[in-house]
Amino acid sequence: MKLNITCIPGDGIGPEIVAEAKKVLDKVATVYGHEITYKDILMGGASIDVHGIPLTDEAIADAKSADAVLMGSIGGDTTTSPWYKLPPDKRPEAGLLKIRKALNLFANLRPAVLYEELADACPLRKDIIEAGFDMLIMRELTGGLYFGERRTIEENGIRKAIDTLTYDENEIRRIAIKGFDIAMKRRKKVTSVDKANVLDSSRLWRKVVEEVAQDYPEVTLEHMLVDNCAMQLVKDPAQFDVILTENMFGDILSDEASMVTGSIGMLASASLNDSKFGLYEPSHGSAPDIAGKDIANPIATILSAAMMLRYSFDLDKEADAVEAAVKAVLNKGYRTGDIMSEGCTLVGCKKMGDLLTNEIV
Ligand code: NAD
Repeated sequence: MKLNITCIPGDGIGPEIVAEAKKVLDKVATVYGHEITYKDILMGGASIDVHGIPLTDEAIADAKSADAVLMGSIGGDTTTSPWYKLPPDKRPEAGLLKIRKALNLFANLRPAVLYEELADACPLRKDIIEAGFDMLIMRELTGGLYFGERRTIEENGIRKAIDTLTYDENEIRRIAIKGFDIAMKRRKKVTSVDKANVLDSSRLWRKVVEEVAQDYPEVTLEHMLVDNCAMQLVKDPAQFDVILTENMFGDILSDEASMVTGSIGMLASASLNDSKFGLYEPSHGSAPDIAGKDIANPIATILSAAMMLRYSFDLDKEADAVEAAVKAVLNKGYRTGDIMSEGCTLVGCKKMGDLLTNEIV
């Protein structure tokens, strides 16, 4: 298969971690007989330094012409970097918002997996995580409260702020279809999270999700109120497979779910549109404090590349191989500094990339 990938190395540790992900992808291509073409584009601070803006139209066109985009991370030290003296629309993060909009990325996926070997980093009690957990939060990214009309007015001398939460059935249907499609590649369970006891938008959400579920008889659907879900995530995380939810609930729940794994350098993410196209990036930032020192953990980016193989290219076997390589290397006791624990072997970013590459045979 031919894989046409645009890469955004970005800023800080971005170029280091993307280089390791490419190494792993190249090995996958060799072992499984694929051909990968990469094109690097500039975004964030790297683009500001060259073009004066965080993302050019040419870079967007390059991203659009690819099958998928693999990104490191963008941004610098927000207190000392000259990038943050620019107006907000010229700063590094503006490039990220612009590319998400240009590529119509409405579905955000964040897996939260407990690796047995890293269980000590999990803040939950041992008896709660005995069974491990492996869930994926599917969050609607372009609608709801964050994109509704808002204003602040004054009525009879009283200040009043208004935010509106709107979803139409098409917005709900397309994210629900993504959620069920992805559940079919996993343990075939969808937990749809809403606040249907209070909100009309949630009642419509629930109805449309049930309609979509008709087309997926193999998938078990359950509904859960968002307040209960926030509790269940810390009480019994193993019950979840795919959590499907709207923008604001997903924003909060995905951070909660990732924190219970305990390791920022391990958290992958993907943002998808209604084709197979996606932008894949680690959940963490550009870590300017450790950039250029060869100590960053590349695993979140490498797991994001595995998601790319699975969701943009339908290469499940290859994605499984990358995920298995991560487990094997952790099992052999190799750790980067952020996940280091007693008795393990400390390795740098490049060495971790090499170890993972060598596991794919
Ligand atoms: P951060 O995630 O970059 O760093 C937080 C802490 O975690 C730091 O101590 C860092 O060294 C550590 N860390 C992060 N990733 C690591 C890794 N892979 N291996 C080892 N340690 C790691 O968050 P921050 O410091 O708040 O932000 C730094 C910059 O990143 C800012 O400019 C911010 O805007 C940007 N940012 C970008 C994205 C993105 O590109 N999607 C996301 C979040 C933050």
